[in-house]
Order: sequence, then C-alpha cells, then structure tokens
Amino acid sequence: MRIDLHTHSRASDGTQAPGDLVRAAAAAGLDVLAITDHDTADGWAEAEQAALEVGIELVRGMEVSTRHQGRGVHLLAYLPDPTHPPLVEQLTRVLSGRQARVPDMLTRLRALGIEVTDADVARASAGTAATGRPHVADALVAVGAVRDRTEAFDRYLGAGGPAYVDRYAAPLAETIRLVTEAGGVTVVAHPWGRSQREWPGEPELAELQAVGLSGIEVDHEDHTPGSRDKLRAIARNLDLVVTGSSDHHGTGKIDHELGCNTTDPEQYARLVEAAARAAEAARAAGLAPPGVVRG
Ligand code: AMP
Ligand code: FE
Ligand code: FE
Ligand code: ZN
Repeated sequence: MRIDLHTHSRASDGTQAPGDLVRAAAAAGLDVLAITDHDTADGWAEAEQAALEVGIELVRGMEVSTRHQGRGVHLLAYLPDPTHPPLVEQLTRVLSGRQARVPDMLTRLRALGIEVTDADVARASAGTAATGRPHVADALVAVGAVRDRTEAFDRYLGAGGPAYVDRYAAPLAETIRLVTEAGGVTVVAHPWGRSQREWPGEPELAELQAVGLSGIEVDHEDHTPGSRDKLRAIARNLDLVVTGSSDHHGTGKIDHELGCNTTDPEQYARLVEAAARAAEAARAAGLAPPGVVRG
C-alpha cells in the first residue's frame, strides 16, 4: 500500500487539474491519495470523478492556513463537511485575505521596478479561489522577471523578502475544533518544515491534541532526518498519528514528486477510524462529511 496524504492541484497552487493529479497518482503506483488544496474544497468533485475512473482511494481534504501564538501553521483537514457554516466562514476570510494582499505585493514589486499587473496574476491563478504567492511567482515568470517559482521566492516573495505581504490566517485551535465538528480529522502539516525552529514542540502539540488534533506530518521533504526523528518521538509519546507525504504541487515545487514520502498503512487506518468517529457525531448533528472514495 502506497499512501500519499498531501497534494495540491490547480484548485490552489498545484499545476495539474484535480483529475490529472489523481490520474498521475494512479500512474505513479499510489493506492491512496489525498487532495489537500490550500483553503478550498473546489477540486474535490473533479478528483472524485477521476478516482472512480482510475480505481484509486481518494481522501478529500484541504490544507488550512492557520495561525497559532503569532506564527503560521498549515493544518491538513481530512474529510470535513466543507459546507459547515463556521468552517466556511473561516475559509472565506482566509480566501479574502489572499485576494486582498495581491495589490500590495504588486505595489512592492513596482517599487522594485518590476511591472506585474492584476491581470497577469489573474491569468496565472485562473481557476482557483486560493490565489497565492506561487501565482504571483508564475506571473513574474510570465513577464520574464525570474526563471521559476523558486527564484521568485528567493528574491522577492519569501518571508522577509522585499515583496512579502502577510495575510489573514484562521486561529489554529478553533480550526481544529471546527474541522472535528464537521466530521473531519486534522494533522499539522510539516510542523518544523518552514523554519529551523523546533516549534510547535511537545507541550504545544499536547494542547492541540486535547482540542482534537489527530496527528503530525513527520515525513516531509522540508524536514531534516534529525527533525523527523524528534517529531516521531513526540508522536510516540503523545500517541499522535504519524503521516508522511509529498506535498506535491505538479511542476510548481521541485523535489516533491508524488509518493516521495508516504504514510504507513497502520497510521492511515488510525486516521480513517478517527474520521469515522467524528463523522458519526457530525451526521447526528445534521452535517454530511464526505467519507473516503473507494475507486
Ligand atoms: P501563500 O499560501 O500564498 O502564502 O504561499 C505559500 C505557498 O508557496 C506554499 O504553499 C508553498 O507551496 C509555496 N512555496 C513556498 N516557497 C516556495 C518555493 N521556494 N518554490 C515554490 N513554491 C513555494
Ligand atoms: Fe502550496
Ligand atoms: Fe504547507
Ligand atoms: Zn501543501
């Protein structure tokens, strides 16, 4: 069983249409794929259709942009009812924040002598509600200012870069609660991946677990072997589920090929069981969590 629980499509900042992502996963020999676009479930329907066609197991999820103690945390949310009103409200705020910061980024780029327009970004982000820095990067490539997304992040868009602009992110603990209420389960994405900081650590993760967090993504390209060992030990101490995934973005992110990291089948089974428990409670409350697609 090869299981990849973190991938992006053109519904956010991946470069493949959701159906093509699912077909590529099947072609890569994966048995289970999760589609986890940033802050949106827009790719789910097309992905489901493709999963039924090619016969792969599909977990519908998303990667929610959250904030905790002043820092950004990406939260993988699997199998929630995406119409749960308070969840929709948070996602809508995040998506509005994504849109609102684009003009500010373009103003900063213009101050650096780089002319990129709203229309350039709109073209690069066609088909997604979750406009992100990768789309601004694609627009920079299109106008010839940089070679690829990596150069755009290194020179302009990365945190602390001259065209970096912050945006709204949903409160982490509240989002964990909302996803659980909506019948889903949550896993912190690449917990130590985006900085060299070993945060969130065991005390923070224990608190989040008390709110409903199910697991942490340990095997991720942005984690060093040392970080993986430490995170695995924390998961063992707290009895958190351990996942491993590619964080594939099509051709948008190098060294993140489908299946480059995978999740152990036993850990996946624990996650699906936790989701089944949450889904039962959510259904009793009148919600409709989507469940795993067994194609
Ligand atoms: P945003 O969600 O708009 O803040 O943009 C963050 C996204 O940019 C993340 O999902 C990453 O996938 C992507 N990203 C960050 N650094 C890079 C990079 N160096 N090259 C390509 N994509 C990146
Ligand atoms: Fe991304
Ligand atoms: Fe992420
Ligand atoms: Zn991701």
